[in-house]
Amino acid sequence: MNRPQFRAIEGTRDYFGPEGDRFDKALSLAAELFRNYGYARVRTPVFEGTDLFARSIGAATDIVEKEMYTFSPGSDSLTLRPEGTAGAVRAYLQHGMDKQNGLVKLWYEGPMFRRERPQKGRQRQFHQIGVEAIGSPDPLLDAEIVSLGLRYYERVGIAGVGLRLNSIGCRKEECRPRYRRLLQEAIRPNLGRFCKNCQARFERNVLRTLDCKIPQCRELAQSLPKSHENLCPECAEHFAAAGEALLALGAPFVLDPTLVRGLDYYARTVFEFTHPALGAQNAIGGGGRYDGLVEELGGEATPAIGFALGVERILIAMEAAGTCACSIPLQVFGATRGKAAHRAMAGLAARLRAAGLSADLDYQGRSLKAQLRLANRRNAMCCLILGDDELERGEITVKDMAEGGGQATVSLFDCLEKIREILPCG
Ligand code: AMP
Repeated sequence: MNRPQFRAIEGTRDYFGPEGDRFDKALSLAAELFRNYGYARVRTPVFEGTDLFARSIGAATDIVEKEMYTFSPGSDSLTLRPEGTAGAVRAYLQHGMDKQNGLVKLWYEGPMFRRERPQKGRQRQFHQIGVEAIGSPDPLLDAEIVSLGLRYYERVGIAGVGLRLNSIGCRKEECRPRYRRLLQEAIRPNLGRFCKNCQARFERNVLRTLDCKIPQCRELAQSLPKSHENLCPECAEHFAAAGEALLALGAPFVLDPTLVRGLDYYARTVFEFTHPALGAQNAIGGGGRYDGLVEELGGEATPAIGFALGVERILIAMEAAGTCACSIPLQVFGATRGKAAHRAMAGLAARLRAAGLSADLDYQGRSLKAQLRLANRRNAMCCLILGDDELERGEITVKDMAEGGGQATVSLFDCLEKIREILPCG
């Protein structure tokens, strides 16, 4: 067999068939649920100025250091967005949403780009669904956002999602800066026992030592000081209130002192959703507060919180759960014998679609028998059968494709009514 000449670039994917259906379902349920919680859709460009990401994600993060797709078409340096928060906050400021004097709730979905080593659930072009709530420090909002993530997984049929929670404090001297120093002091005597990566990050991004995946580092991290035990009084109170509110919403969590999240802009509450079907890349989504980001990008100091869910990993978990594994069934398939009947069926299908039903017919000159086989393959719920002779009599046969379903020949005028009788909730 000939190999196709062109293939998708490593780390990118095509989505079609049942997986494509799952993708659509994941997005349409997000749109519905997020609207329900008061989020408005924002669409931002796929590329932005490189500085935006360097400034918001942080120069000493893996993403900015080695994973961004950056290009310079002229004198500008542009980058394909590696995540959605920076663009959403840029749009929030650019369009004066900060002047609306209230909480602004935005949601987005779309492709993100990171030059990572591709593996199961990790791609170079991947997709995220995310929400951002900008303008409130209320810990009840933290709980609402986290539980919204959990509700979403429930809605797409994914059970068994785990929730890890931590607080990494704020920028006040007595909070994260002091904790950072505490960590460095605790690590310094053993620095040589940590991996090369951790050693390199020791000065610039010591918190990342806590979530290093190397077993030796994980072991050493166990005995390091914990951020939730070293918060300033305000952050400690905030974290306790967020945890309580989460439990009140029926969302049990595991307090995980090693959860720090990779990006610089996080503060206070951070969280991650995990799923057992994912193996090594078990994070199915994550997020946190980013109280300093709006100010960092030139706005007033504005507390904010959000999450991003990985669509590829949602699809893996949906498949493992058997959610929507089959193609979305077609409601009506129109099979014909004869040219006049074929033409009439094309018109009838258009009318059925206009009436809100999904309808299709054969365009490849198949025999009636082959068309009926195709109707089966397409999971059609109902099949119309029309020959030139029936057309002349003004009749059509309507067949219920469910097991044991019957068929009836009715007047062409009564055909829609008959179809509705057959379709569930018709
Ligand atoms: P992050 O923006 O790194 O916090 O990622 C949020 C979520 O996006 C993760 O929990 C993953 O589900 C997903 N994700 C991040 N990076 C990738 C990637 N390279 N490929 C697929 N999914 C990813």
